[in-house]
Amino acid sequence: MNLVMLNLHLEELKKAYHHEPYPSFEVRKERILRIVAMINKYEENICKVVSADFGVRHTVETRLIELNSVKQAAKHTIKHLKAWMKPQAVELPFQLRSSKAWLQPQARGVVGIMSPWNYPILLALAPAISAIAAGNRVWLKPSERSLRTSGYLSTMVAEYFHPLEFSVTTGDATVASDFSALPFDHLFFTGSTATGKKVMRAASYNLTSITLELGGKSPAIVHSDASLKEVAKKIIYGKLINGGQTCIAPDYVLIKHEKIPALEKELQDAARLMFSNESLLTSPIDQAQTIRWMNLVNDAANKGAQIKELLAPSESRSFTPVIMSQVPKNALIMHEEIFGPILPIIGIDSTEDAINYVNSKDRPLALYWFGKDKKVLKEIITRTHAGGVCINDTLLHASVENLPFGGIGASGMGSYHGKAGFDAFSHQKPVLDVKPLWGIKKWMGTNLVHPPYGSSIEKIIRRMGK
Ligand code: NAD
Repeated sequence: MNLVMLNLHLEELKKAYHHEPYPSFEVRKERILRIVAMINKYEENICKVVSADFGVRHTVETRLIELNSVKQAAKHTIKHLKAWMKPQAVELPFQLRSSKAWLQPQARGVVGIMSPWNYPILLALAPAISAIAAGNRVWLKPSERSLRTSGYLSTMVAEYFHPLEFSVTTGDATVASDFSALPFDHLFFTGSTATGKKVMRAASYNLTSITLELGGKSPAIVHSDASLKEVAKKIIYGKLINGGQTCIAPDYVLIKHEKIPALEKELQDAARLMFSNESLLTSPIDQAQTIRWMNLVNDAANKGAQIKELLAPSESRSFTPVIMSQVPKNALIMHEEIFGPILPIIGIDSTEDAINYVNSKDRPLALYWFGKDKKVLKEIITRTHAGGVCINDTLLHASVENLPFGGIGASGMGSYHGKAGFDAFSHQKPVLDVKPLWGIKKWMGTNLVHPPYGSSIEKIIRRMGK
């Protein structure tokens, strides 16, 4: 779609929104249920198409993390939507105590959603559910790197939705760039920090409000009292699920120097136990991804890092997952999000060291802490910043609909999931209905105080200011 066509479609969507600016609960619910019906009908095909995009992606992974999560988001949203749609009364100051004030949740209008390829169904449809719940018209631009899934999404959505309710436009980075510059009423972007900056720049031209769900280097801090066997299982799962291509995957580990050899052994055991079978480790999305990982490993190795393979090499895999220790500070891998099955382990001397290390980097999307000492945990939580925290496990905080999900600083702005998602796509419009104070007309709102000011007004104003 060229720029003219994109603008024309947006105009049509805006007209459709103004025709129905406040869809009822029943209308919103029915639309969300259509997404569920769509997934239920095409579940098998979706799994096949996603696997084809990756090369290898186990159907359990697609069902568990993508399809079930979308259905869970739909279920949670429908359960709570009536309550979220209700106006919220607010307290008033003394002079307005007979009046009424409330926050009226209102759809933003027509919203654009831009999704990445790593969880191509979940990260397209979960925000769409929140947007529909809030009463918006939705336009989705999925990633060009998961070409088959994006095309399939477009076909499925066209079967289940009128194009002016919810539509999908596929296309390359040029289309994405044009899309991000459209005067949407809100733009919701999931992707890399680098592209997020471009999207924010484009949105700023129209003063389009924006949610940025970005990435970053999420640390896993292992305290001395943690069981390394348990830690290794959790880290390997979080790191290797989807072949390491998860925004909240633990990016690197911070652990006391002397514990590194024992952790390495446990990580290798855990990886072999869970991911030895070739069908269980998701492939890199494309060749460019494999080359990027190889470059990161070669760069670190050339600068002196010790590399160990997590799994036995196999001809059917283009890349063997690795851990690395003694990683020099100037290695590229310590300066960019890895987004792949490579795990640097960094030696520290103390919790203070770990805190300083995390605080010296951009604020991450997730932070993981393993241990028992509550005092240390409190230090970690209160002295570091992260989009979200999960203690003694990985990834799971993102599965809780009642926990807002989003980044901070370089890892994003705004959040979604559950009520936070409804709020991201709503304007909480403040409304004040002014009534006479205690029914006395001359004491109604601005009647109370207006020029010319007599001495009694002056007295009242002085008293009010105390
Ligand atoms: P990406 O930034 O390359 O692409 C994301 C989207 O941006 C795609 O839809 C693409 O079409 C579009 N795009 C590409 N060029 C553009 C441009 N010039 N202007 C506007 N849009 C453009 O990201 P990716 O490789 O698809 O995904 C991986 C990244 O996404 C990682 O950094 C990961 O951490 C992050 N991510 C974040 C979350 C989250 O929820 N916070 C979830 C998944 C992935």
